[in-house]
Amino acid sequence: MSVATGEVITAPEFRAAGTDLSERRRSGLSCGSIIDLTASPDTIGIAWSTDGAARIGALTAIAAVASDARLAQAYPGITAAAQGLATPQIRHMATIGGNLAQRSRCWYFRNPQIACLKKGGSDCPARSGNHLYHVAFDLGPCVAPHPSTIAMALMAYDAKVTTDRRSGLSISDLLGDGSNGATDNLLASGERIERIELPAPLAGERALYKRAISRSYAEWPLVEICVRAMVTGGIFQQVRITAGGIAPVPLRLAASEAALKGEPANAATIAQAAELATSGAKPLPMTGYKLELLTGLVRDVVERIVV
Ligand SMILES: Cc1cc2nc3c(=O)[nH]c(=O)nc-3n(C[C@H](O)[C@H](O)[C@H](O)COP(=O)(O)OP(=O)(O)OC[C@H]3O[C@@H](n4cnc5c(N)ncnc54)[C@H](O)[C@@H]3O)c2cc1C
Repeated sequence: MSVATGEVITAPEFRAAGTDLSERRRSGLSCGSIIDLTASPDTIGIAWSTDGAARIGALTAIAAVASDARLAQAYPGITAAAQGLATPQIRHMATIGGNLAQRSRCWYFRNPQIACLKKGGSDCPARSGNHLYHVAFDLGPCVAPHPSTIAMALMAYDAKVTTDRRSGLSISDLLGDGSNGATDNLLASGERIERIELPAPLAGERALYKRAISRSYAEWPLVEICVRAMVTGGIFQQVRITAGGIAPVPLRLAASEAALKGEPANAATIAQAAELATSGAKPLPMTGYKLELLTGLVRDVVERIVV
């Protein structure tokens, strides 16, 4: 394993609530100057347009998203994801923008003594090392899963991100497709997330979020999914399934969606969709177990949605 000398982050970094940044400062991983973000009416809180679409400011606390009754009615998958992550203390402080832009939790990345692709190194030490909690869809040179639960849930709702420089960014525009192992997102240096825009929900849609975890509290999930579905007359009309913890970016499970859309909402259809959840997977030697978790989560959550 290569040891880095001086390969720490020296670029200036924004600080929202600092729940991710402070830990990297303490370990010496982030050493550049800090730019504190201050709330303005445009960057904090939840606003609604007349068609029922929500806009969430980047500095809105995750706890505020988790406890907003109107948001829970319109976008229950986002509410449940916000309620399920981290700890009450972290949710109280941490912001939506900081969640999207948080850095990898890979233990090699977090160790300032070890070089990795995200710190200017030439290879990914997790690939040949301990990658028990890493990707099962090996899409790029870095095998760390993207850490953002909120990004995974926002992807299920086709959310668009506005920064101080660009608007209309999808979650994929913001985070990439996983092929760039050097970064956790595609924000330019000094580019600031300002808000997230959600399309109005479909009439009659339902949504659920669930995570598979290695301990019951204060941990990133092994695998997590968000399912949105509209079922009328016993037929799946619209389905969207996104998953986190399995790839360098949140993923849409397109094969599972296609297996459900237009089909009867019964056990056979759901079982078929669950099997297809792993389409395109490329597990690492230690991460095959995540595919079983993914299949089980898809079956369980879709079944619950149609009940
Ligand atoms: C025990 C524990 C468990 C956790 N579990 C989960 C989990 O299950 N799922 C999950 O998603 N997260 C989890 N987290 C992470 C937590 O959600 C993040 O630390 C938090 O969301 C970061 O938000 P913040 O406002 O504190 O960001 P900060 O720490 O202030 O910033 C994080 C990064 O984002 C950048 N940044 C912040 N705001 C902006 C902005 N507006 N525009 C551009 N860049 C910005 C900063 O420069 C920094 O690089 C967990 C954390 C802990 C400690």
